[in-house]
Amino acid sequence: MEELREAVINGIDEHTEALNEISQEIWKNPELAFEEHSAHNVLTDFLEKSGFIVESQYKLKTAFRATYGECDTVPRKPHIVVICEYDALPSIGHACGHNLIAEVGIAAGLGIRDALAKSTENLGKLTILGTPAEEGGGGKIELIDQGVFDDVDVAMMAHPTPATYHKKPLLARSKLYIKYKGKASHAAGFPWEGVNALDAAVLCYQNISCLRQQFKPTWRVHGVIINGGVKPNIIPDITELEYSIRAPTDPERKILETKIISCIESAATATGCSVEYHTADKTYNAMIHNDTLCKLYEKNAISVGVEFTNDEEDKTIALGSSDMGNVSTVVPSIHPCFHMGTLAANHTRDFTTAAGAPEAQPFTLNQGKSLALTALDIYLQPKLLETIQADFEKDKKKLTIMV
Ligand SMILES: [Zn+2]
Ligand SMILES: [Zn+2]
Repeated sequence: MEELREAVINGIDEHTEALNEISQEIWKNPELAFEEHSAHNVLTDFLEKSGFIVESQYKLKTAFRATYGECDTVPRKPHIVVICEYDALPSIGHACGHNLIAEVGIAAGLGIRDALAKSTENLGKLTILGTPAEEGGGGKIELIDQGVFDDVDVAMMAHPTPATYHKKPLLARSKLYIKYKGKASHAAGFPWEGVNALDAAVLCYQNISCLRQQFKPTWRVHGVIINGGVKPNIIPDITELEYSIRAPTDPERKILETKIISCIESAATATGCSVEYHTADKTYNAMIHNDTLCKLYEKNAISVGVEFTNDEEDKTIALGSSDMGNVSTVVPSIHPCFHMGTLAANHTRDFTTAAGAPEAQPFTLNQGKSLALTALDIYLQPKLLETIQADFEKDKKKLTIMV
């Protein structure tokens, strides 16, 4: 046991330079959802050279699957998936630090690979899964739909944030696209001939803002006007908005969505505009943190020197949403958050800078070790999967009752 733990730690420590280079390469070339071609190539090239069986462009153009070891034996052995993300944000680059998520995934993969190789018996299978488009595109949802998680026992990843928590809430999220149609006219010469679609968009925004007083503290609704008209002297005939709607559970999200739709429709009535709206086809589920997995991860993280943030209030504030939430509804999963040297918030320019700084490296490598050691615990004690599965079934039942 101790020998294999050492193999994990050494397997990561021996590659600190290469791991840093990988995340630097991704950080310097930020690519948007489903366009992460350079990141995909950097990661798959490295994994091929590292002895993994690599399937490039796996199911999606910028997804990949890299495997090591075997699970379909008698008795069946555990199959563990470590997830990489590598998409960036428009205009602010790697402001969510997904270059570091990729690095954690590869680091964990190297550590696990070395432990599996060192073991005298077959311990099981490791998959490193490259999942594109977490920022809105829901790449993992497409991979789930294509059966990628069907034979998986456990999935894990780690995400950089200002603080370190083993289970920070991730909210269920839907997106609404709204389009108001009015009638264009000369804004000074013949304003009475027009129907102002910008007024409808502004009222919609304000209706939702007024409703905020009645929001539960855990609800989040935020939007932008993506088309607000063309010229001041033309009464806008078309305006468009995009909104995200988030709540801790799916049923609660649906209640909130109904309230938001009333705000949208009443703005149309007040201005005489017509309105069309639709939800995005991919809804993110709330994250179910598997209790047994979380405890294993916490123990291992502490053993390699990870310090968890001791802020009870902050612990309950949601990080946002992720398609990892959808993964957590099909296989037992964890999504710990880790401090990487900055107190700046995700999706800020300061966070982008920190995600590319050398200070982030020790924190990132420690997460790779924490995930790999957690996987090792499961490979060495496959009976743990029974408790992990029991937690999963219990959590799923709770969700069904709530629906
Ligand atoms: Zn993000
Ligand atoms: Zn993120």
